[in-house]
Amino acid sequence: MSVHTTGQRAVDAPFGPPPTAPAEARPAADGPPVRISVDNNHCELYGICQQEAPEVFHLGEDGRLRYTPAPAGAHTPAVRQAARCCPMQAITLTQLAQVTQEPK
Ligand code: SF4
Repeated sequence: MSVHTTGQRAVDAPFGPPPTAPAEARPAADGPPVRISVDNNHCELYGICQQEAPEVFHLGEDGRLRYTPAPAGAHTPAVRQAARCCPMQAITLTQLAQVTQEPK
């Protein structure tokens, strides 16, 4: 979880209900889970990321971008698309290790 500071435009704080488990512990659904980081020095708040992945990115009325830093793997395709479409290339994705289940 991040610390909110004055002047910070992008905040890596979830805006929806919190996930039941950290992304590292959840199995991948539609892609391996990724960790998101948005560079405040590059983000110009165009909101394209919100258009591509509205479950993960949210541009608030207060002019701040909020995002879920470690969304479920089901959102990975949309998050990758958001990162590709960001005109400022402000979104960095780090792939998290996948959790595999042992056969019973
Ligand atoms: S698309 Fe890029 S520049 Fe626009 S709000 Fe999202 S992170 Fe910021």
